[in-house]
Amino acid sequence: MSQEVRVRFAPSPTGVLHIGGVRTALYNYLFAKKHGGKFLLRIEDTDQSRFVEGAEKYIKDSLAWCGIVPDEGPDQGGPYAPYKQSERKDLYKQYVDQLLAEDKAYYAFDTPEELDVMREELKAAKANSLNYNSITRNNMKNSLTLSAAEVKERLDSGEAYVVRIKVPAKEDIRLKDMVRGWVNVHSSTMDDKVLMKSDGMPTYHLANVVDDHLMKITHVIRGEEWLPSAPLHVLLYQYLGWGDEIPEFAHLPLLLKPDGNGKLSKRDAEKHGFPIFPLAWQGQDEELKGFKEEGYLSNAFVNFLAFLGWNPGTENEIFTLDEL
Ligand code: GLU
Repeated sequence: MSQEVRVRFAPSPTGVLHIGGVRTALYNYLFAKKHGGKFLLRIEDTDQSRFVEGAEKYIKDSLAWCGIVPDEGPDQGGPYAPYKQSERKDLYKQYVDQLLAEDKAYYAFDTPEELDVMREELKAAKANSLNYNSITRNNMKNSLTLSAAEVKERLDSGEAYVVRIKVPAKEDIRLKDMVRGWVNVHSSTMDDKVLMKSDGMPTYHLANVVDDHLMKITHVIRGEEWLPSAPLHVLLYQYLGWGDEIPEFAHLPLLLKPDGNGKLSKRDAEKHGFPIFPLAWQGQDEELKGFKEEGYLSNAFVNFLAFLGWNPGTENEIFTLDEL
């Protein structure tokens, strides 16, 4: 590859790091090393309501225990601290303002009660989608339906609002996934997702795309649960004028329960006697407190994770991180 490969692992500090997360981090790390590129760690902590004390440290320590350390950070010189989205709040606001000015996003003033009524009505009408989108937005209180004077008045009075993306009514959004191949989504099935919340914080979608662009990420390697969000991200790249620099996507299959039925949970892991958290958790989450380190060797753990779902085809049973 001629361009420097740059990848990131972008966990939200909402609890402990599950082995599925470590596996995603490991794939990113190995991909960067294989191509002589850079691996970045980015803490996505813009959702203050889901923040769990101690989780960020747990994530950093668990990755370091596996030998996965960032090659870059917000400061000069290592060892590098991760990037943190909560420290970049003003930067995201700038891009939200750009989208508003270009009519690619709009203010929405609906109260939670009004949104509930909308969903009930849609449910009663047996609508396919129960959300705010190119059809329902016309009946709601937003800067597309209110006059400019009314919008100004509401903003000046300090009324709570969110900023939503204005998804086109009829357009094909296409992206190529390294695992799934071409993914085609019609915009009529997409929602006008919130980009900035009433507390002024960006949502995951906006901050994630802005950061991936500014951090020059070339490959977005993440869990499959984010595949449904990828078309929205592609639209955001286009809206922000970065349509020619969209990273490559690889959405990895998830670690499933042993019977293949759904995502692996802590309970399933316990039942089958394999680890789900790399280190003992010292956070404040009651359910997780007291989970003890089981005495696994980090190299054995890394090999176990690396070879879930595939095999290098050799007789060799244990590899160092470098060999991997
Ligand atoms: N913050 C997201 C998570 O917690 C990151 C998803 C992504 O990698 O884009 O999984």
